[in-house]
Amino acid sequence: MTIPVKNVTPEVLCSNCRACCCRLEVMIITDTGVPEEHIAYDQWGGETMLRLDDGWCSALDRETFMCTIYENRPWICREFEMGSWECKDERKGL
Ligand code: SF4
Ligand code: SF4
Repeated sequence: MTIPVKNVTPEVLCSNCRACCCRLEVMIITDTGVPEEHIAYDQWGGETMLRLDDGWCSALDRETFMCTIYENRPWICREFEMGSWECKDERKGL
């Protein structure tokens, strides 16, 4: 018997995705140790992940499409679930 994996279908994998979700605005709402050089501040002092001119988060490795600060990634990134409707929606957009 195959045990189904919750909300994950074989064709929706981070390994076959160009990190679509790493183009979204990611607010930093808890301290997970994101390095200073990857943080953007708004006029009220709010913190988000810095995005570069190509649209992706500055912490993304442009060749491997892997997160270079995985252990320190923001809470929102940890909660973004592969195979979820948000994930599928972002993949559709690119
Ligand atoms: S979570 Fe979804 S959108 Fe984000 S990299 Fe993985 S497959 Fe792509
Ligand atoms: S911190 Fe990592 S997982 Fe989060 S948006 Fe940036 S590259 Fe993607």
